[in-house]
Amino acid sequence: MYRKILVRYGEMSLKGKNRTYFEDILIRNMRNALQGAGDYKITKTFGRIYVDCTEDNWQIIADKLSKVFGIVSMSPVLETSLELEAIEHAALALMQDNPKGSFKVAVRRSNKRFPFTSPEMNQRIGALVLRNFPELTVDVNQPDIQLNIEIRSEGTYLFNQVIPGSGGLPAGTSSKAFLLLSGGIDSPVAGYLSLKRGVDLEAVHFYSYPFTSERSKEKVIDLARILAGYTGKQKIKLWVVHFTEIQKAIQQANYPELNITVMRRMMLRVACQLAEREKALALVTGDSLGQVASQTMESLATINAVTNMPILRPLIGYDKQEIIDISRKIDTYDTSILPYEDCCTVFVPKNPAIRPTIEQALEAELHLDIQGLIDEAIEKTECLTVSNIIRPF
Ligand code: ATP
Ligand code: MG
Repeated sequence: MYRKILVRYGEMSLKGKNRTYFEDILIRNMRNALQGAGDYKITKTFGRIYVDCTEDNWQIIADKLSKVFGIVSMSPVLETSLELEAIEHAALALMQDNPKGSFKVAVRRSNKRFPFTSPEMNQRIGALVLRNFPELTVDVNQPDIQLNIEIRSEGTYLFNQVIPGSGGLPAGTSSKAFLLLSGGIDSPVAGYLSLKRGVDLEAVHFYSYPFTSERSKEKVIDLARILAGYTGKQKIKLWVVHFTEIQKAIQQANYPELNITVMRRMMLRVACQLAEREKALALVTGDSLGQVASQTMESLATINAVTNMPILRPLIGYDKQEIIDISRKIDTYDTSILPYEDCCTVFVPKNPAIRPTIEQALEAELHLDIQGLIDEAIEKTECLTVSNIIRPF
């Protein structure tokens, strides 16, 4: 029955002159998300976005758009002329799917030339619906179904369903940041939450072949592929840093309880240098305060001390269960829990320092050729473009 979807976007409409910029990126992201969804047309009119579609694909389109950041909600709408009879006909057609329970008619008449006022229309359509569906009752306070009728200058739109969107801001409306993406549960969720605030995201993964297997790298590529579905572009750049030499050097320095601290400091140094080269302004990590030894306040401070670049930690206040819930929702969980080892787990000491100080870290790093190791790692870094779109052969 539906051939049109009304797309609502909230917060971004407050952005004054930037509004067109946000809308254009939102529409680009919608187009990217709709590849393979069949025929459709997006139009922007009077501060609204409509997607014209077909009776066959509107549900597929709504489903794909529900993952696009910046969209608050959607409604499949029936569009009619300004003729009273046509409006009445459409109202009955809409209510056919919900012939039981309570309802309310909510008319908004922005077209003041339409001959009936909103209250008159509410009454008229309400009475018509009651006559045709005797099992329905009116409840103006908490109706099961709200039949919305918008009478505008260009025509009339009717809808009674509201499909939630993902909210947030369109991905790519903010500047670029680099996500430190491990194979775990947390960092993909941190990436998702930063994309939700509009970040233009690239990912960097530290990989320690042969201490970690090819399959652990495949797992991270799979996670990047899922994240790509939220980037607005349906693809993401994944930088794979070969971390083996650095880990060996840290191991040889022989400060086992500081292994993790020094490893993280090295990761940050490499990531920052790459990020700066690629004109990113911040890093994103999956740290959550107190979750493990490397995420105590002291650890975070000592690790953070190697850089002035802002580090976004969207999960800082989240409990593990809350993070797991999001990872299930965004479809990364099943991949994250695959058992392939991570470069950190291979080198985890028996007693990691829980409150490492900067002085201790500096001492453990005294005999490392820090800049030499960073330069070598950056030189060997691979850049993959991971796409979410599976193309038919
Ligand atoms: P995750 O589930 O994201 O692996 P975690 O709880 O296991 O997180 P840690 O292993 O302490 O936490 O890692 C903290 C953060 O450091 C990760 O969320 C991620 O941002 C970054 N990180 C850890 N290991 C790697 C890696 N191999 N490559 C890139 N980033 C990493
Ligand atoms: Mg981890």
